[in-house]
This record gives sequence, structure tokens and C-alpha cells, in this order.
Amino acid sequence: MPDKDYQLKVLISREEIKNTVVRLAKEIKKDYRGKQPLLIGILKGSFVFMADLTRQLDLPMEIDFIKLSSYGAATKSSGKVKVVQGLKTPIKGRDVLVIEDIVDTGLTISFLLNYLRRKKPASLKLCVLTDKPSHRKTSVSIDYLGFTLPDKFIVGYGLDLNEKFRNLPDICVLEDDESS
Ligand code: 5GP
Repeated sequence: MPDKDYQLKVLISREEIKNTVVRLAKEIKKDYRGKQPLLIGILKGSFVFMADLTRQLDLPMEIDFIKLSSYGAATKSSGKVKVVQGLKTPIKGRDVLVIEDIVDTGLTISFLLNYLRRKKPASLKLCVLTDKPSHRKTSVSIDYLGFTLPDKFIVGYGLDLNEKFRNLPDICVLEDDESS
């Protein structure tokens, strides 16, 4: 797809993100006191959120990542999900906390939670930075939620369009600049 011109509008500023990450870390710390959770980030989108969140969590913990197939180069969910890169850590008997950047239809996260549940963790919870509930195709129970968003395509803070914009410090809405 050729590069287009886009208008980037800040939807959630870096300050709002920071405050929310601190709030989520407090909730998580309270629930996991005395435990040694395994945090599983979903690549690639959650890498920035994971880095900021874990630095607010003064808990003994381990970190792993899993890579799933996602939208590819389009902006709509295919509904087809598979594990592209698996976990390195056994999760049987572990307190697992999944860290996800965004839930839209819910198909990706539901697939992952079912996949992980079959491996018999002691507990399995979900922390999501942004939720777009208007397109839900399957119900998802989110234990720790940052923001509920309208149905807009967002980029920044780890989220991409065709691998671009992941490095933006704010969460932005992407609009086609048809006028240019
Ligand atoms: P779901 O399976 O819930 O429809 O989609 C989840 C995945 O779709 C996310 O992990 C993310 O990769 C992608 N996604 C959904 N909405 C957005 C969005 O607004 N912006 C970006 N960059 N990715 C999105």
C-alpha cells in the first residue's frame, strides 16, 4: 500500500496515559501482593504499555511475550488468529496476567485466553489499555482497564498502521487527509 498523508489528532495524551498506567499498577499491586505473577505481553502492540506498566510494579514478577497474527496490513479484524511466536515460560500453576494494548472485536484476546487456559495456570487475568466495545463479536471480561474508546482507528504508544506510528508517545486518531 503506498504511503498516504494522514492527519494525526491526539486522543489520549502522554500525561493521561501515565496517570492511567500508575492507577492500573496500583490495582494490580494490591491484587498480586505476596504472589509472583507472570506477565504476558501480546506483540507487538503491547511493548510500550508493558515497559511502562512493569516499571510501576514493584512486585517480584516474570515477563514473557507471545505473538499472534493480527490485522496484517488492513484496519479490520480478519477474525482468524494464530500463535506466530509462542511463550518461552511454562505457565502451569502460575498466576498469569495478560497485557494487551487494545480489544476491538474481542476475537484475538478470546483466542489467547482459551489457549492459555488449556495450559492450566493457577489464575488468569487480563489487563487492557484501551477498549473499543462497539464492535464486540464475543464477550470479554477485562480485569484491569485503562480507557474505553469510541470506534476510531488509533495509533501510537505501541499501536501501528502498517508498522508505522508505534513510537508516538500519545495515542492518536488517524484520519485520511483527503484534501491533500
Ligand atoms: P480484535 O481481535 O479485538 O478485533 O483486535 C485486536 C487486535 O486488532 C489488536 O491487538 C490490534 O492489533 C488490532 N487493532 C484493533 N483496533 C485497533 C486500532 O484502533 N488501532 C490499531 N493500531 N490496531 C487495532
